[in-house]
Amino acid sequence: ALKVLYRLKKSGYQAHLVGGGVRDLLLGREPKDFDVATDATPEQVKAAFGNARIIGRRFRLVHVRFGREIIEVATFRSMQFQQEKHSEEGMVLRDNEFGSIEEDALRRDFTVNALYYNIADFSVIDYSNGMQDLEDGLLRLLGDPETRYREDPVRMLRAARFSAKFGFNIEAATEAPITELAHLLGDVPSARLYEEVLKLFISGYAVSAFKKLRHYDLFAQLFPQTEEALAHEDHEFPLVLVLKGLENTDKRLAQDKPVTPAFLFAVLLWEPLRRIANELEAEGLPLYQALQHAGNRVVEEQVRCVAIPRRFSTPMREIWTLQARFHNTKGKRPLRLLAHPRFRAAYDFLLLRAESGEADPELAAWWTAFQEQQGLDPKGGGNKPTGNRRRRRSRPRKRPAK
Ligand code: ATP
Ligand code: MG
Repeated sequence: ALKVLYRLKKSGYQAHLVGGGVRDLLLGREPKDFDVATDATPEQVKAAFGNARIIGRRFRLVHVRFGREIIEVATFRSMQFQQEKHSEEGMVLRDNEFGSIEEDALRRDFTVNALYYNIADFSVIDYSNGMQDLEDGLLRLLGDPETRYREDPVRMLRAARFSAKFGFNIEAATEAPITELAHLLGDVPSARLYEEVLKLFISGYAVSAFKKLRHYDLFAQLFPQTEEALAHEDHEFPLVLVLKGLENTDKRLAQDKPVTPAFLFAVLLWEPLRRIANELEAEGLPLYQALQHAGNRVVEEQVRCVAIPRRFSTPMREIWTLQARFHNTKGKRPLRLLAHPRFRAAYDFLLLRAESGEADPELAAWWTAFQEQQGLDPKGGGNKPTGNRRRRRSRPRKRPAK
């Protein structure tokens, strides 16, 4: 990022670090990524770098690449461009696309996200009291909160997320309209909400984010079936399962272990699925098929609000349906299940169910012991099977079972 900033400065442009990068550095945290804002147009930025590409149609940005790292460089944008974007007129007047740094600052979301680090004199430029809010731990939207949420409802999720991540309070006027406007998330494309859900739940502070989202009635917009099931819970375990599952992902991330969206969504949607599956079972369907049908129904409903890419929804369904196969502890079947590529994740899921008081702890213990008996380490892997483990598992398949 510094290289980009200095190159732009040497080429005669203004160049600032902006957004989460500045905020996180000021908080003494390691930024996830760095964004650069400049008065150079995308064409001028591209010309200043050999390793740059212009991307985006509506918002043209430049990606400057250093090996695997990408620094995003954006030209100061005007407020007018923002309004035009929402006027549905379709045509964007390029004349109005760019603006001054002051205009660029005003169209950002929170004051703490509108700080500019200026390499020309190593100062932080602050048009909106962001430094003070950062010190006070306050999230304050720029402008009129209701207008800003209507412009982009995702800002409500960002308020909850930053509040969870930094332990900040949401300033009163910024907080006030959220619950009432939560329904506006219904207009946001499901693919964008998927990205936001990952940021909320695969970032190391999922438990806290979950609580904030529920507090502001935002969770119901993302996972309506789950919210419904939690609201009508007659036992403790549905909520316990979700909380324990999210706690697990937080712990795994703290230990730098991988977390797959398949497992996350399996946790979040289990309770509504279980309710449907129970009904189907009562109607006489075998458990495996009941889980399969219920899974289909729950996913079909869920993707109306939050998209789940197939590469994750397929393993997610397997995690669910494999729960039925854990009941088969006789004959060759346990060994066959052990060889299933999704065994690991499904077993972790069984443990979670047992810990939450939903599945039989003795059944879970049986599977732990069985793996040890087979020379496998039940705590060994993660949710993702590695090539190594796969090879190890395929061996028993060829051997005749005991
Ligand atoms: P993090 O990357 O840690 O999640 P961030 O604040 O950097 O947080 P980004 O999504 O990377 O979030 O966005 C970079 C900056 O762009 C923000 O700090 C903010 O200034 C601006 N921004 C992002 N999303 C919005 C939005 N929906 N409305 C207005 N400004 C936004
Ligand atoms: Mg960022």
